[in-house]
Amino acid sequence: MTDGALFARAKQSIPGGVNSPVRAFRSVGGDPVFIASARGPFVYDTDGTEYVDLVCSWGPMILGHAHPEVVDAVQTAASRGLSFGAPTLAEVELAELVRDRVSADGARPLERIRLVSTGTEATMTAIRLARGYTGRDVIIKFAGHYHGHSDGLLAEAGSGLATLAIPGSAGVPADVAAHTLVIPYNDLDAVEAAFAAHAGRIAAVIVEAASANMGVVPPTPGFNAALSRIAHEHGALLIVDEVLTGFRVGPAGWWGYENAGALAYQPDIVTYGKVIGGGMPLAAIAGRADVLDLLAPLGPVYQAGTLSGNPVAVAAGLTTLRLADADVYRRVDSAAQRVAQAASRALAAEGVAHVVQNAGSLFSIVFADEAATDYDAVRAQESWRYPPFFHSMLDQGVSLPPSVFEAWFLSASHDDDAIGRIEAALPAAARAAAAAVAPVA
Ligand SMILES: *Cc1c(COP(=O)(O)O)cnc(C)c1O
Repeated sequence: MTDGALFARAKQSIPGGVNSPVRAFRSVGGDPVFIASARGPFVYDTDGTEYVDLVCSWGPMILGHAHPEVVDAVQTAASRGLSFGAPTLAEVELAELVRDRVSADGARPLERIRLVSTGTEATMTAIRLARGYTGRDVIIKFAGHYHGHSDGLLAEAGSGLATLAIPGSAGVPADVAAHTLVIPYNDLDAVEAAFAAHAGRIAAVIVEAASANMGVVPPTPGFNAALSRIAHEHGALLIVDEVLTGFRVGPAGWWGYENAGALAYQPDIVTYGKVIGGGMPLAAIAGRADVLDLLAPLGPVYQAGTLSGNPVAVAAGLTTLRLADADVYRRVDSAAQRVAQAASRALAAEGVAHVVQNAGSLFSIVFADEAATDYDAVRAQESWRYPPFFHSMLDQGVSLPPSVFEAWFLSASHDDDAIGRIEAALPAAARAAAAAVAPVA
């Protein structure tokens, strides 16, 4: 069956033919590729066509696909039983590993870790914890930051600065969205203004540690530290969402990256997902003991999960994190740097205005003359250059993220051969981007 035929069939039984919207290729056009298997840096479609993969399941596959030791750990765990609904030794080991690994210069910000199954659950619970801790209702989030699909976090910016948000999705009650303030990223004045306008009502600021769901837009130096200071001055908490960055940009996530320098800050709650599960459904809420211990059964903030800490998922996550040593991060960094530079060279050779934006090994291309520091700037780029670029790469056997607003993901398995294939495909893709025509307004 061709991808087109398979997609048509999928749409008969699955809304839009997909189980998560970006997979549908809506922003690049065409039919999505149906994947049958994956190994190392490659994915294979149902005909056996091989693609170099720069999606890596949207982040988790930092070691590459089907890493033998991870698969072995999963098979061993599965053979012992798929789910117990009771505590296990391995989940304690995972909590200890996360706690010990997220440290820098003697600081160890994570005293407690609770496991859940998805990033959405983690951020939803983080918000509930912050509200339970502070006794306040309002949340500040940044335009263009994604924290999963819970009601309050799908809010969009209202008409004015520091005004209450409107629902970002049908089905979200207006009075739920009205507890969320959406303000521009990297804008500390807007943060101060929001706290001034809503004194005593703000429970928390939630921020992507480095934003990578509107393309990659790193925080300006000191931004996260300033957020922490401002939030604490006003009796609010800082929730740092590391679902994407955690254990991907380094062994201690983005926090470790920043706290290795002079930008140290104290998050109260940190959320993890993606890499922590090594490709299985696993995520976590971590942070200060006095905050996390408000969770049931110790405290009044309710949270639970039939499959939380699932033993097969924990086996995948624990094995992935144990294997993700300094050498793995060096390889991912170097692969990302080579691919980013090759993409930039190819686009420059065709005279295509662009900026490569990165946060550690996470990067994306912005089709604009200047770096974008917030959502408005990201949206103003020549995004219509991306679909032909994307499809040229796909036709040449390289699978990029199917949206200009997503990061490119490398893994430790992207070796010279895989990178060489990407480099070889880039000049034709850059020509396609150069030839793209702006849509008529
Ligand atoms: C992916 C992501 C989430 C949501 O995680 P899911 O497991 O897809 O629910 C939350 N926050 C950030 C920053 C993410 O990148």
